[in-house]
Amino acid sequence: MPSQSTAPAHPPEPVARQTSFCRLCASSCGVLLDVEAGRIMRVLGDAHHPISGGYTCAKGRRGSDLVLGPDRLTTSMRRSAGDSHEPVPVAQATADIADRLRTIVDRHGPDAVALFMGTQQNFAALTPPMARAWFRGTGSHKLFSTMTIDQSAKWVVAERMGTYLGGRQRFEDADVWLLAGTNPIVSGNGGDGDGAVVHNPSVALRAARKRGLRLIVVDPRRTETAAMADMHLAPRPGTDAVLFAGLLQVILTENRHDGDFCRRYTADLAALIDAVAGVTPTVVQRICGVDANQVRDAARIFAGGSRGMATSGTGLCMGPHSNLAEHLVAALNVVCGRYLREGERADDRAVLTRRVPARAEVAPATRAYERGFRSRIGGVRAIRGELPSGILADEILEPGSDRVRALIVSGGNPAAALPDRGKALRALRSLELLVCVDPRMSDTARLAHYVIAPTTMYERADHTAIMEPFFPRPFAQYTPAVVTPPPGVIEDWRFFLDLASASGQSVKFAGRILDPGAPPTAEQLLAMMTERGRLPFADLAAAPHGQLAGLSGAIVGAATEEGAAHRLSLLPADVRGELNAALTESAVTKQFPLRLTVRRIREAINSTGTRVPGLVPGGVNPASLHPDDLAALGIADGQAVTVRSASGQLRATAQADSTLARGTVSITHCFGSVDPRDDVGVNVNALTGTGHGVQTINAMPTMTAIPVAVEPGVPATTEMT
Ligand code: SF4
Repeated sequence: MPSQSTAPAHPPEPVARQTSFCRLCASSCGVLLDVEAGRIMRVLGDAHHPISGGYTCAKGRRGSDLVLGPDRLTTSMRRSAGDSHEPVPVAQATADIADRLRTIVDRHGPDAVALFMGTQQNFAALTPPMARAWFRGTGSHKLFSTMTIDQSAKWVVAERMGTYLGGRQRFEDADVWLLAGTNPIVSGNGGDGDGAVVHNPSVALRAARKRGLRLIVVDPRRTETAAMADMHLAPRPGTDAVLFAGLLQVILTENRHDGDFCRRYTADLAALIDAVAGVTPTVVQRICGVDANQVRDAARIFAGGSRGMATSGTGLCMGPHSNLAEHLVAALNVVCGRYLREGERADDRAVLTRRVPARAEVAPATRAYERGFRSRIGGVRAIRGELPSGILADEILEPGSDRVRALIVSGGNPAAALPDRGKALRALRSLELLVCVDPRMSDTARLAHYVIAPTTMYERADHTAIMEPFFPRPFAQYTPAVVTPPPGVIEDWRFFLDLASASGQSVKFAGRILDPGAPPTAEQLLAMMTERGRLPFADLAAAPHGQLAGLSGAIVGAATEEGAAHRLSLLPADVRGELNAALTESAVTKQFPLRLTVRRIREAINSTGTRVPGLVPGGVNPASLHPDDLAALGIADGQAVTVRSASGQLRATAQADSTLARGTVSITHCFGSVDPRDDVGVNVNALTGTGHGVQTINAMPTMTAIPVAVEPGVPATTEMT
């Protein structure tokens, strides 16, 4: 008699290994997915991927949980009684939303409708252009994005300084690089989208240093990247602008700048020299807390290199004087001439997108924001077609005929990301219509009238067109959908196309008006996007690990007659005024003697990943201080503390962290929950406000380097929920 078999009645389905790429951050790492019975069982790095070479981070390896986990929405939701939600078919939801938008526009005009585009939207190639196409059809001016709460200072620099059109020097052949306010070992972001150290960052940095690159890191914390650097400058949080003025002072007074480049392409070098003349290394030491000799050495190392740039991340753009700090970083690159010259190999990373010819000339400062749509909130104007997200809550709350009454959120979580969390939540709760396109019930989704459940990354076809500027070499990848989505979800782009159709709006995509009666497939749209690129879509689709496109042969061309007359503006009068203010402002007060810096962690990208069980070590979000500061405050490691600022307070668990400079508190941003039953840590925006320290032009609030006090014990009332 045969022994009893333990085999299942049906043999298990074989595991199929599929290639794809991760779409949680700009790195777009190549991955191998083990798929069994329609589920992703394992995510591995793709060793044959020409850019990432097998690298993945902790988030990427948990990609299956991030996109398919138990809290993932498999149908769209509609708010029912109270704060609860009930399932609704997406077609019904779309029709309802179109009806409600129509009613709001009929009563209040198109500017009562707003779109907020979050970071995650950018990792799906079709979503940003389709969301924008829908938005254009509304006739509204109320476009917002995360760019204006973390990086719009870079736009301000281009508007006030102008742009050199020959292109920037590359990381691959640089012998010096300065990273400011960015920690690519953790974030993968080398700043400025220049492809510096986005991919496999530890290996990329180590290899660069081995070939002789000298690395300077500017960060108040001894970050993982700073630990690898030749020189780490740790300015007091919020004093970066003064540090960069000091670096310029050394370079210019010691005549270490590129005189030829400055003569040909700048209008006002003398004004810059004059403005920074008093910002000596001794002054920098007093204001920033960086040793004067270190300032001199860093300036000499940077200017002494033959090639290489200073690039910056959100740390600079979110702090006080962010527009000035970014301007001075750009000035550092200009005075050292760190740009590609006529006849050099041009940037040729445009593979799927149209290449813009590089020319050795300047597009002058135009200050186009002075002519942008003007908000009734403080008279703030749109910059690059967007209103600053720092005024979104006021746009919703403050009375006015064009008050925002309907908000569509795509791939973002403004409830977690906007400054002044109390006001932001009040604003979102007060909307007549809040729609959130999100695969899970984020804080914003919980407040929404409709939550549209979209496909997640491995359920949709995609390519890397939007991410091209981040690759170190010309490269592109296409992926088909690897697993079948639940029947109740919709692709993000298709929601916007259907919403436009239900609203009677036409949609223009890649130069064509789409027929709502016969909508194209994702693959057709992806192919349309690549028509002006240099790699045929069919070739791209046939390369499972992606395709290195090779050099294009493009070189930096000569200046046109008109362009040859243009110059960069190194020190306009308003920038000089900002420098004077930065030099005279007191860094700390008696009431708030510490400075809070926000940070990133490997396990999360903004709020994505913060709720995946077991992913974030410890599961919560501590407030880190230097051990000596803890001792001075009488606080033990692990003790509950209250962190207070002029704008609010929160409770957190203290954590000793010797990588921090004395006087600094560090908390990761975008944690927290509107539901007090969720034990997912605190949201730093309980401490940020929209009152003090708001930048001119882009209304950028101070989101890091915030004056705070830390005390043992918890407050009677915690942060608002
Ligand atoms: S760095 Fe991590 S999250 Fe970003 S693409 Fe790579 S695996 Fe994904």
